[in-house]
Amino acid sequence: MYEIRTCTVEGCERPAVYEEQSCYRHLADPPAFSRRIAAILADSGTLSDADLSGAVFEDANFTEVSLQGCRFSGASFHRCILSKSDVELCFFDDAVFTDCTVHDARIRKSVFGAARLAGCDYTGSDIIQCSWNGSSCSWVTFDDTDILHSRFIGAEITDTTFRNCNLKAVDFRRSTRVRVSFKYSNDEDATFSPEDVPWH
Ligand SMILES: [Zn+2]
Repeated sequence: MYEIRTCTVEGCERPAVYEEQSCYRHLADPPAFSRRIAAILADSGTLSDADLSGAVFEDANFTEVSLQGCRFSGASFHRCILSKSDVELCFFDDAVFTDCTVHDARIRKSVFGAARLAGCDYTGSDIIQCSWNGSSCSWVTFDDTDILHSRFIGAEITDTTFRNCNLKAVDFRRSTRVRVSFKYSNDEDATFSPEDVPWH
């Protein structure tokens, strides 16, 4: 795993980002940093053990990238494409995803705790053993996904579809779900709070 280094700006407690001395906000040119990361991923296709906390990515194409052990705490992804990506042991806690396309990705053992997602499409992806606890998902498509052993405890889920999904051992306890569809999914294999009646 990466080593956590703190930003060298006095009084700042945020982590220093990949190969830099400061956090993303205290970089001299934050967008240039995001472009450099995008260039690394476009060139090598892979990034491991990198701290990218707080980074902002807009209109980036991360198709088929491999991200292993990276930290994206509080990062933002706007209109990014992560289709066919391979993501393992990554942290996206408090991250924001808007209008992102994540088709046929393989996402394992990663954390999306308290992340905010709007208008994102995960169709066809495997999202295994991931934590979405406390996240908010609106207008998100999880159709044709395998989300085995993932947890949405306390999540706020609205206008979102889990059609034709494998929901085995998925934990939705204490989540709120408004206009959520589980059509053609095995929601009987998921766990809900006792008072919940799953929507269809
Ligand atoms: Zn800082």
